[in-house]
Amino acid sequence: MNVRGRTRCGTGSGHSTIHRAIRSGDRGFARHRGETGRVHDQGGWTGNGELPAPVARLVAPPGRADRLLHVHTLPARTGITRPWPEWAAAEVVAAFEGAGVVLPWAHQVEAAEAAHAGDHVALSTGTASGKSLAYLLPALTDVVEGSRDASGRGATMLYIAPTKALAADQLAALEGLDIPGVRPASYDGDTAPPDRRWAREHAGVVLTNPDMLHHALLPGHARWSSFLRALRYVVVDEAHHYRGVFGSNVALVLRRLRRIAARYRSEPTFVLASATTGDPGGTARALTGLEVRIVTHDASPRGGTHVALWEPALTPGGGENGAPTRRTAVAEAAELLADLVVTGTRSLAFVPSRRGAEAVAAGARRLLEEVDPRLPDRVAAYRGGYLPEERRALEADLREGRLLGLASTNALELGIDVAGLDAVLVCGWPGRRASLWQQAGRAGRRGGEALAVLVARDDPLDTFLVHHPEAVFEQDVEATVLDPANPYVLAPHLCAAAAELPVTEADLELFSPDARDLLDALAARGALRRRPGGWFWTRPDGASALADLRGTGGDPVRIVEEVTGRVIGTVDHDASHHSAHEGAVYVHQGGTWRVTSLDLDAHVALVEPAPGDVVTQAREVSDIRVLAERERCEWGEAVLTLGSVDVTSQVVAYVSKDLRSGRVLGEAPLDLPARTLRTTAVWWTLPEQALADAGLAPADLPGAAHAAEHAAIGLLPLFATCDRWDVGGLSTALHPDTGLPTVFVHDGHPGGAGFAERGYRAAAAWLRATRAVLEDCPCDAGCPSCVQSPKCGNGNQPLDKHGAAVLLDVLLAKAP
Ligand SMILES: [Zn+2]
Ligand SMILES: [Zn+2]
Repeated sequence: MNVRGRTRCGTGSGHSTIHRAIRSGDRGFARHRGETGRVHDQGGWTGNGELPAPVARLVAPPGRADRLLHVHTLPARTGITRPWPEWAAAEVVAAFEGAGVVLPWAHQVEAAEAAHAGDHVALSTGTASGKSLAYLLPALTDVVEGSRDASGRGATMLYIAPTKALAADQLAALEGLDIPGVRPASYDGDTAPPDRRWAREHAGVVLTNPDMLHHALLPGHARWSSFLRALRYVVVDEAHHYRGVFGSNVALVLRRLRRIAARYRSEPTFVLASATTGDPGGTARALTGLEVRIVTHDASPRGGTHVALWEPALTPGGGENGAPTRRTAVAEAAELLADLVVTGTRSLAFVPSRRGAEAVAAGARRLLEEVDPRLPDRVAAYRGGYLPEERRALEADLREGRLLGLASTNALELGIDVAGLDAVLVCGWPGRRASLWQQAGRAGRRGGEALAVLVARDDPLDTFLVHHPEAVFEQDVEATVLDPANPYVLAPHLCAAAAELPVTEADLELFSPDARDLLDALAARGALRRRPGGWFWTRPDGASALADLRGTGGDPVRIVEEVTGRVIGTVDHDASHHSAHEGAVYVHQGGTWRVTSLDLDAHVALVEPAPGDVVTQAREVSDIRVLAERERCEWGEAVLTLGSVDVTSQVVAYVSKDLRSGRVLGEAPLDLPARTLRTTAVWWTLPEQALADAGLAPADLPGAAHAAEHAAIGLLPLFATCDRWDVGGLSTALHPDTGLPTVFVHDGHPGGAGFAERGYRAAAAWLRATRAVLEDCPCDAGCPSCVQSPKCGNGNQPLDKHGAAVLLDVLLAKAP
């Protein structure tokens, strides 16, 4: 897709304006001629008319105009209120009124009415649209009214958040409402035993997370009988968070919860609250197995916001194999944050990592120091690990203007209680459109113009998005991918369910159409016992340890300092061969260590302090065997296939490099066992002759296929709501199972996680976007913004960017 010469990037979707922008070579902007002879225009703002004031301020300094690629404006919106529902308990209404709610918004009432009528509800609206009032109004009404009956506990509510911090925030909010009879209590890993007992026996509202349900509440359901008997509402908050393997696991935990509630004659109403996502009803059904009413019309007011797409400058050299490098999004965000603070703009920067958030804050402070020594104190970092009180204090400082700039980790995108800011910087694509809108939605004061800036990182996905605004602004937010029927995920939950209560014929439908076969297989293996009454778990210990909810792949490896015995950190089981092998340099919180030995059986890596100027990278050989084809389609001579594969990989060596120059200092062999992953893959094959006819010589084929594989993996998250790290790939000029040049992209989890399948279903759009990235990136021979991958087991060699473009052109020639 060539964007050259385009004068407009779309027509908007009826409620927003798209400013014309970018890329026209005839306006005197710098040009850059690529090796392929294509012209890559380095455009800047060429929109018609004036730039919106907040954007104009941002591009004013010299050299900035070129980095702004697009501006999209979300207009201000006025809110629509409704009267309080007649059935709402007076105490609950009074509490909300006391907290400043004059009247509820229309969508809150619509969702509340549906839940009160007993319908399961999926509520999917924007940031700060007041989703909690929508479910609290009916649920707390029941809890308060239930507290008046003889037991004092006629109705209970269970609130499930993806993180402990978020449940703690909700607890604080409920305690703040201070409604008589509600008696909220949290139940998480930090809850002391006496408090746990109080929650079980007396709380009207219990706030927890999926891990606690899985490991504690469900296996110990007998002790929760009085709570479960009264269970009227289950709230699944931030439901868009449950995707991939984690989402599939949570879907099964929720089915187990429904089964156990039924055992106590409860049929609770489920309310799923999520940020704006595609197909919220489908996601809610996949998560709960229930039909739901969908509420998506957001009636809360919003200030106008300009959303800018921003690409940091590219400088020649400095990268792996001499590739050019782009200025990091972190450095760029620090500079932008400093500028915003200088003009008194209250700003929040979202940064993917804790270290990045601290670097953005530190960088901004350093720049501000030069301007005015009083300013650095008005910038802070905000990250996980802070106590709730510390976080509340920082939020209040930002709200009230004592702080002007805050750099926060993305992990807190859910928990931050700040909205109505002047500016939000989003440092790197946050993974999904839903997250972008959630983060950008923090900007937008009533009666003023706010600014949100997406700062591109040095990778193919970010490059594609800032050059293709239509992919950001004109497409629906993505649907959530999860697959609770995956036998690798389902089997341990069937065991856990059987341990809670024998699984009967009547339960099969709840879990999956294939549950019977799986249960019989588990019985044949001796994990379960088949009796006339159903399938039984007969071991004395529970079964919840079998399921790995967050998909980290077994026990993590502990990193232990050899001399002191101090545990410095942990590395996920799956990553241990790559990052905790003997000789690996391990960096943690600014310190650097070198691994002296790795004991895979004991899950321990011993380390000693090491100088901080060397980095190591593992080299891996891998192999894919096709086990079965599930589906295939033909695009002319090209064939796309979805199927199951065995991926065998072995870390065989590592290279040491100088941190600053990237120069290779040496390579050392390693003796680690090969590992096999049985999973789902999508792959495509092309006849060698068709490639030769298009000008791709056989000698260039490996580099071309490898580069196409990297770029395709980089773009898949746009279509499959996964992270780049959730999938892997392999490319070869001749694969023994296909007999042809083949590129594989596979799920990184046993049995698959639905990502490769989504890639197969969206293959034409996915591979066209992959092709577009090669065009958009102005580098000559490949760089991290297009075809280099930070996780390549081959040191990014060979890579042939031009060849990849030819290969993808041949592949896409007959694509639908
Ligand atoms: Zn590039
Ligand atoms: Zn690679």
